[in-house]
Amino acid sequence: MTDSIISPPSDNVDTQVKIPVVSIIGRPNVGKSTLFNRLIGKRRAITDPTPGVTRDLIPERWLLGNHPVTLIDSGGVKVDRDSMDDLVAKKSLGLLAISDAIVFMMDCTEVTAEDRELLEYLRPYTDKIVLVVNKIDDPKREDLLWEYYEYGYQRILGISAAHGLGIEELEDTLLGMLDLVSLEEAPEEAERVKIAILGKPNTGKSTLTNLLVGKDISIVSEIAGTTRDVVMGSFNYKGTDFTVLDTAGIRRKSKVEEDVEYYSVNRAIKTIDEADVVLLMIDSVEGLADQDKKIANLIVRRGKGIILVLNKIDLLAGIGNELEAIKDRVRFLFPILNFAPITSISALQGQDIGKLLDMVWTVWKQLNKRVDTARLNESIKVWGEAYQPPRGSGGHYKVYYGTQISANPVKFLFFVNRIKEFPQIYIQYLKNCIRKDLGFTLIPIEIDLRERK
Ligand code: GDP
Ligand code: GDP
Repeated sequence: MTDSIISPPSDNVDTQVKIPVVSIIGRPNVGKSTLFNRLIGKRRAITDPTPGVTRDLIPERWLLGNHPVTLIDSGGVKVDRDSMDDLVAKKSLGLLAISDAIVFMMDCTEVTAEDRELLEYLRPYTDKIVLVVNKIDDPKREDLLWEYYEYGYQRILGISAAHGLGIEELEDTLLGMLDLVSLEEAPEEAERVKIAILGKPNTGKSTLTNLLVGKDISIVSEIAGTTRDVVMGSFNYKGTDFTVLDTAGIRRKSKVEEDVEYYSVNRAIKTIDEADVVLLMIDSVEGLADQDKKIANLIVRRGKGIILVLNKIDLLAGIGNELEAIKDRVRFLFPILNFAPITSISALQGQDIGKLLDMVWTVWKQLNKRVDTARLNESIKVWGEAYQPPRGSGGHYKVYYGTQISANPVKFLFFVNRIKEFPQIYIQYLKNCIRKDLGFTLIPIEIDLRERK
C-alpha cells in the first residue's frame, strides 16, 4: 500500500540554521492577506471581502532586509471556545508557538468581540507580538492608535496595508526582534508542489486526500466558518514536499452544499489559482460531468497543470478493456486537454497512488521548466523552415524570434511582423512544436504575440 512511499513533509526546523518564522494573525477581514501580499511583493493569498473567505497556511520565503524569513498568513483564525480542539483552530494557534515574531493585526475601523478573545489567546506570547493597526489610510486617523495602547503591547504600529503606509516601520521593527540568518547560511528552500483535487461530489476527493495526508479530515467538517481554505495537509514523496490544498467542498458533510460549491465557478477559480497541479477526479463508473469540462477549461486557461484521474478502478476489475474505452471517451470529449495525462487509481484501495504522484511531479517539473532564448530561437528557425506561416490578405506573416516570459504558468512571447489576423493555426503549430521539441508535453502553454516592424 501507500504508507511506505508517503511520509511527513520535511521541515527546516531540524536543520542547523533556523530561518525565523513570522506569522500574521488576526480575525478575518482585518487585512492580513493584503499585508502578506504587500510584504512578499506578489499576489498569493486570496483577498475577499467576505469574512472568513481566504486561504491556507502555506509558508512563503520572504526577504526581510536581505535576510530570509518564513512568513505565514494564518488565514482567518476563528476563536470559538467550543471548537478549540478543532484541528483548524489548533493548527492556526499552534502557529503562535512556532513563531519568532507575531504580527497581530487589528482594524482601526472596528474592534470586535473576536479581537478581544484573540487578545486573550495571545497573552502568553506578548514578548513576540507587534500590534499592527491596519486601515489607517489617512495620516489624520493616526490619533486612533492611542486607543490601542490599552492592550499593553510595547510595539504598536499604524499601517495601511492597502496603500503601503507604515510598511517600512513594520519591517524595521521585525528586523530588531529576530535572530536573523544570512542568505548564504540559509538552507535551500524546499520544493513544494501544491495540489488541488477538484471534481464532482462522490468521485473520491476526500478519500484520496485522507490517503495522502494521512488523517481523517472529516473531523473538521462540522464547525461552520472554519472549514474553508486551509491546507488539508502536507506529505513527502520521494524527497519532494507536496501540499494538498483544501478543495471546494471536500470538508462539507452536506452534499447538497457541496454541489452548490462545485457549480460555483468562482470558488473553483480560487482553488485553481492557488494550485500548481489540479487533479480532476472522475468516477470511472459514472463517467464525465458537464461541469468537469468547464473546470478543465478554467485550469487550462490559467496555465495550471491538470491530470485527469479516473478513480474507483477497483469497481471495473475484470471488465477487460473498459478502462481504455473510458480513456478514449475522455480524450474525445476533452479535445482541449489532448496534452493532459490521464491516469487511473483506486483511492479506496491505495492502488497506483505512486504512479499518480510521479505524474504530478513530472507535470510540475514541466511547469517550472525554462528554455533559454538561444535554444528557443534555433528551434524557431527550424520550425519556420519546416512550415511557414500561411499568407493572409495583407501579405506574408513572419515570426522573428521568441522568448519564454514565465514558468508556472509557462508563457512565451513571439515577435512577429504583423499581429492583425495572425493565423491561429500557426500559433497552434508553434505550440505543438514547443511541446514536442522543448519538453512541455504534458502542460498548457500560452503564446503572446508582439509586433515588431
Ligand atoms: P484578511 O481576511 O484579514 O486576510 O483580510 P483581507 O486582506 O482579505 O482584507 C479584507 C478587506 O479589507 C479587503 O476588502 C481589503 O481590500 C480591505 N483592506 C485591507 N487592507 C486595507 C487598508 O489598509 N485600508 C483599507 N481601507 N482597506 C483595507
Ligand atoms: P468526494 O465527495 O469526492 O470527497 O468523495 P468521497 O471521498 O467522500 O467518496 C465518495 C464515496 O466513494 C465513498 O463512499 C468512498 O468510500 C467511495 N470511494 C472513494 N474512492 C473509491 C475507490 O477508489 N473505489 C471505490 N470502490 N469506492 C471509492
